[in-house]
Amino acid sequence: MTIAGHAPFDTLFDTPFDTLVICGHGMVAQRLLERLVAQPGQPFRRIVVFNGETSPAYNRIQLSALLAGDASEDSLALQQSAWYRQHNIEVHQGDPVTAIHREAKTVSTASGQEQPYSHLVIATGSRSAQLGISGEDLDGVVGFRDLQDTRKLIDISQRHRRAVVIGGGFLGLEAAEGLRSRGMAVTVLHRSPHLLNRQLDPTGGTLLADALASRGLSIRTGTSPVALLGKTSVRAVQLDDETLISTDLVVVAAGITPNIRLAKAAGLVCDRAIAVDQRLQTSDPAIYAVGECCQVGEQTFGLVEPGYQQAEVLAQVLCDNTSTAAFEPAVIATRLKISGIPIFSCGQTQPDGDTESVIWQDHETRHYCRLLVRDQRLTGAVLVGETSDGPWYSERIQQADDISPYRAHLAFGKPYCDAA
Ligand SMILES: Cc1cc2nc3c(=O)[nH]c(=O)nc-3n(C[C@H](O)[C@H](O)[C@H](O)COP(=O)(O)OP(=O)(O)OC[C@H]3O[C@@H](n4cnc5c(N)ncnc54)[C@H](O)[C@@H]3O)c2cc1C
Repeated sequence: MTIAGHAPFDTLFDTPFDTLVICGHGMVAQRLLERLVAQPGQPFRRIVVFNGETSPAYNRIQLSALLAGDASEDSLALQQSAWYRQHNIEVHQGDPVTAIHREAKTVSTASGQEQPYSHLVIATGSRSAQLGISGEDLDGVVGFRDLQDTRKLIDISQRHRRAVVIGGGFLGLEAAEGLRSRGMAVTVLHRSPHLLNRQLDPTGGTLLADALASRGLSIRTGTSPVALLGKTSVRAVQLDDETLISTDLVVVAAGITPNIRLAKAAGLVCDRAIAVDQRLQTSDPAIYAVGECCQVGEQTFGLVEPGYQQAEVLAQVLCDNTSTAAFEPAVIATRLKISGIPIFSCGQTQPDGDTESVIWQDHETRHYCRLLVRDQRLTGAVLVGETSDGPWYSERIQQADDISPYRAHLAFGKPYCDAA
């Protein structure tokens, strides 16, 4: 279905030499489009976007708010259809690319279109990682990645009472909180000994678990499911210690897997994701990749901010082949609010042999701050409950400032350190 835009040029001009094709229309592809049309020398006569989903690009981050009943579907749209028309961008929703033909420089789509390209951008994002255990294909086993998943979760929450969420990372906790706020009794299973183990240290994770438990979530850490049980619909989760948990819904939120099938089938170099250089170019000079489907060096991405930085760089590269713009993976801070509890984390989260910890904790307010210092430089910050100084700590980490003049005040934040 083409929802917006029209071909700006007669088909006589539809040569493969001036057509940008974008495969995937998620948050990063949309940012790329916005940056491209803002560039003075936008060189493409046609921009054609194919998307697997049936809705135009939307704010995926807000799916958590939608699940919790705090946002409406309409409020998620990133642009209205008039915007695509205004910029002559052809968007084909619900028509995924099924193959890339590199020699012919064309892509095929599910509806049977053959679209030539001069430049191709792959922005296919990720999907929920599979658990690799029996029962994953039962009804009532749902990922938490897109609008379809979220609609399904809302629907099930209106008909059933019990849910198990597999994964105590930020996606799993947001799913759990959303379902709890819709009246479900929710159990969270997490393999690691503490929640949010990528963002928090054990104390931070335990504080968060206590706060969530006091709001009614049941949390089991250090445990993994070994099977999902049921005939056609899921009825129970079996754990590695033989425990059975009865349930009507299982949400699988145990990580993400980059969507690289197309790129692999086309013979592009892939590792965990599609390998790109700092200009976001793949092993084929006419093909680029951005967002969660790409890998720069050893690094893959699971947050939107690095994808936005990549979109910025790629817009410049596509508009000016001599551009020196380059994507530098940076230390990205994570700022979350789980059930109203603010969390901030940046840089190193666990101490090692070379780091010292500066810790401050207020048991009454459940505020917690752990700062990691190496050679009088801040290398990591974990904050729970009170996070307003997070961006300031993040700047200190990125700039590798010498903190010795105000080290004694470090845990109290910027105002105290400035005064010192
Ligand atoms: C519930 C939830 C909450 C989140 N919260 C946060 C947060 O608080 N902070 C944060 O930084 N990040 C958050 N994220 C992650 C963030 O949404 C992603 O980092 C971001 O969306 C990645 O953008 P992307 O464009 O690379 O991929 P996506 O947004 O996933 O878009 C990829 C698109 O490509 C489509 N596609 C796939 N294959 C094909 C194909 N063959 N042909 C055509 N189209 C295809 C997909 O259907 C999808 O629409 C959250 C994610 C979820 C699911």
